Amino acid sequence: MSPAESRRRKAAEQLVERGLDALLLSGLQNVRYLTGFTGSNAMLLLYRDGEADMFTDPRYTVQSKQQTDCRVRIAKGKLTTSVLSELRRRRVRKVGFESDRLTVADLEAVKNELPPRASLEPAPGLIENLRMVKDASEIDSIRKSVAINSKALDAALARVRTRMTEADFAAEIDYRSRRLGAQRPSFETIVAAGARSALPHARPGDAPIGAGMLLIDMGAFYGDYASDMTRMVYFGKANARYKRAYRAVLETQLAAIDAVKPGVTAAAVDRVARRTLKLHGLERAFVHSTGHGLGLEIHEPPRLGRRDKSRLEAGMTITIEPGVYIEGWGGIRIEDTVLLTATGCEILTPTTKELREL
Ligand code: ZN
Ligand code: ZN
Repeated sequence: MSPAESRRRKAAEQLVERGLDALLLSGLQNVRYLTGFTGSNAMLLLYRDGEADMFTDPRYTVQSKQQTDCRVRIAKGKLTTSVLSELRRRRVRKVGFESDRLTVADLEAVKNELPPRASLEPAPGLIENLRMVKDASEIDSIRKSVAINSKALDAALARVRTRMTEADFAAEIDYRSRRLGAQRPSFETIVAAGARSALPHARPGDAPIGAGMLLIDMGAFYGDYASDMTRMVYFGKANARYKRAYRAVLETQLAAIDAVKPGVTAAAVDRVARRTLKLHGLERAFVHSTGHGLGLEIHEPPRLGRRDKSRLEAGMTITIEPGVYIEGWGGIRIEDTVLLTATGCEILTPTTKELREL
């Protein structure tokens, strides 16, 4: 059985549990997960017996055949029109839809033409829940993605100069990453020098990097799976304030990683991070959550924040990335991609976390 087929079987069990006859999937990553199809236009009807019909347009006639092992319907017009005729043909009654993914326009289109005895039911997050725990082929892709990402940083750091701009250095990272086999960055590479590192999601600018701290947050896609890593480097001799803050964030990151094991809630790991930063008087400078799941998307459930009560399980891949941000001074974040194991976790990211001066 292909990975996609066994995922469809698992997803179909969820339909049975929820009393749905079919599920209309419009999230492209969810369609990719259940079929292997990577095109930019697709919908999937999954039925409670595990069968499925994928809908796409004529541009993907060949590609869909190569990538998927379920039935493919090539729609000449709107995908929703073909979906509706399939629903009519099969006399499907209860149809779940991804209320967090389906556009209002597509929802209206389906609703208006729904067969008389059929009904629509919101079923958000169903496939995302399954996606949290990765299978062997997914973990393999994530490992390769992480390895490429770390090698790309090393290769780029070997060429970095303080007179380069943030944008130059970000371009160097992206170039190295693609040369090493990445499909593309898993998000826009962040390179933030000096006080600009206090912006957690800084866009690389056109000023020279200069002396002082530099924050680099980067990720790669390999085999459609993401990696994510943040590292700091310091150009010149690091001052005492930087060293203190760096050690506090590193201690926090290690404490959080130590707390990652099956059965623990996402929120509990976040609590450990906040408690550790508090010991250093820095908890108020930590303005985001401790981490997030990643896979086909760079941000996936679970979210390692205060409110996420989901329990961690073996096979999940998450980031651990505490940080402190001080306006006018700068920000420090350290981020690894980690894999939940039966007893704890494995840090996938091989890049050193020693305080680095260049
Ligand atoms: Zn990141
Ligand atoms: Zn991240």
